[in-house]
Amino acid sequence: MSLQKNSSSGLDKLAFSNRFVQELPADSETDNFRRQVMQACYSYVLPTKVSSPVVVAYAKEVAEQLGLTENDCQSEQFANVFVGNEILAGMNPYAMCYGGHQFGHWAGQLGDGRAINLGEVVNAKNQRWALQLKGAGPTPYSRSADGLAVLRSSVREFLCSEAMYHLGVPTTRALSLVLTGEQVVRDMFYDGNPQAEQGAVVCRVAPSFTRFGSFQIFSSRGEIDVLRQFVDYTIATDFSHLLTKGKSLDKELYITWFEEVCKLTAEMIVHWQRVGFVHGVMNTDNMSILGLTIDYGPYGWLDDYDPDWTPNTTDAGERRYRYGQQPQIALWNLVQLANAIYPLVEDVEPLQQALTVYNQTFDQGWNAMMADKLGFSSFVPETDAEICKELLSLLAEAETDMTIFYRKLALLDTEGKVDSLTDEQLLKPVEEAWYRLDALTEDYKTRFANWLRKYLYRMQKESLTQADKEQRMNAVNPKYVLRNYLAQLAIDKAEQGDYSMVNDLLDVMRHPYDEQADKQEYAKKRPEWARHKAGCSKLSCSS
Ligand code: AMP
Ligand code: MG
Repeated sequence: MSLQKNSSSGLDKLAFSNRFVQELPADSETDNFRRQVMQACYSYVLPTKVSSPVVVAYAKEVAEQLGLTENDCQSEQFANVFVGNEILAGMNPYAMCYGGHQFGHWAGQLGDGRAINLGEVVNAKNQRWALQLKGAGPTPYSRSADGLAVLRSSVREFLCSEAMYHLGVPTTRALSLVLTGEQVVRDMFYDGNPQAEQGAVVCRVAPSFTRFGSFQIFSSRGEIDVLRQFVDYTIATDFSHLLTKGKSLDKELYITWFEEVCKLTAEMIVHWQRVGFVHGVMNTDNMSILGLTIDYGPYGWLDDYDPDWTPNTTDAGERRYRYGQQPQIALWNLVQLANAIYPLVEDVEPLQQALTVYNQTFDQGWNAMMADKLGFSSFVPETDAEICKELLSLLAEAETDMTIFYRKLALLDTEGKVDSLTDEQLLKPVEEAWYRLDALTEDYKTRFANWLRKYLYRMQKESLTQADKEQRMNAVNPKYVLRNYLAQLAIDKAEQGDYSMVNDLLDVMRHPYDEQADKQEYAKKRPEWARHKAGCSKLSCSS
């Protein structure tokens, strides 16, 4: 399949207004070599030209948001621009400087080592969208790496960005996935097996790509003037609603802003926990200031509900970034951000106070989310705290598919009599969720049936019709998630030049809460062969 049919394109109609480079200090060095960059938020750098770009996929909704048509996306110019071969008038490419705590340790300068921002498009609705190529060649921040990305990790980033968006999870978006025609060598599990893989570039789209680490770097270097400039800029652009009449950029507003970051972060994590998403590398350089899911690397989706699971083999020992620990890690990261902005506030107490917003928002959000998942109109602490706790412990005890479980739970008859139901009758509707039904002990089945009884009694207080309840639950419990093995199957095909499954998955994930009768294949639980397969259950940072 070749998508580059048209030679004409409407790309020239994109209007750029690059506030980031206009308002923030630039690195005065413009040659592209690895270095420490001081007193600057970014360095000018051009993408590396490649031999033969081929568009593998594009997201038409993202294109439309920018003011591009599908016709534009199918043009030769589209491939050239979004692989980095052609710079449009108005673009002003640069790489951002940031630092970060990696796996709990301060790592110093990191920066856009393989991301190059093209500029900010202002669309017809006056919305500002930053465009960023990932994998378009080295920058001053590439350290010892090559600035490139391979097809497998680019498919994963492209598909997951869009899947998350359609699931209602705050995220950066992906416009396009383009093969470069170049080979890139990667040792996937760092075990002495380097292989040549196909290079690819994803164009990411977000209001901004600013990270917690974007502030940490200036604070760590004592560059407080730049820190202040960047915070002021961020509030004025990404949080302009805080700068209402009479408000000025002062300590009080910095605290209000930080509170808002705490709130947005908590909301994002509640969504991750709702859909079973495990980010895999929650370093502070991978935390968006806007509370968007950012940097899709060795992420994964829970097939069976296991709070201790992480897909990232690099984190296999400590499991710092496991599913069940994501809420605490987000808070830890916010504490690092608080430390970074302390020089602007010079008072610990209000920062500590602002941090409590995280726990409040998370706790409330998590309770409401669980109530939604279970079909309750609101969370009643007296009964529901126990119901949730018991359920999550049962789900973790026997291998149970999280996604399938909640969809099946919605099918339970909540209008009929509970007392007369046997354990077997109770368990029947959710049976499909267990990976090893025959391995369930009698004791476990009894306990699960008792939980279902308790749940049904609780549901009867809701006095909802069966149809209304199903609708309510299915609106928050996805039928389709980007299961690890599905993404891997799409990658295997794409590596052979068949991009159909990448595009099929993109399509399925457009309506993750709908039944989609012809797409049931994509809702199946993880097949046995995928249990321990690379890419399906374990991933590394190599990408
Ligand atoms: P990550 O763990 O992917 O968020 O990356 C951490 C840092 O390493 C960031 O500064 C990335 O830009 C950089 N990085 C990761 N992979 C590469 C690469 N292939 N070339 C250059 N820099 C990279
Ligand atoms: Mg990163």
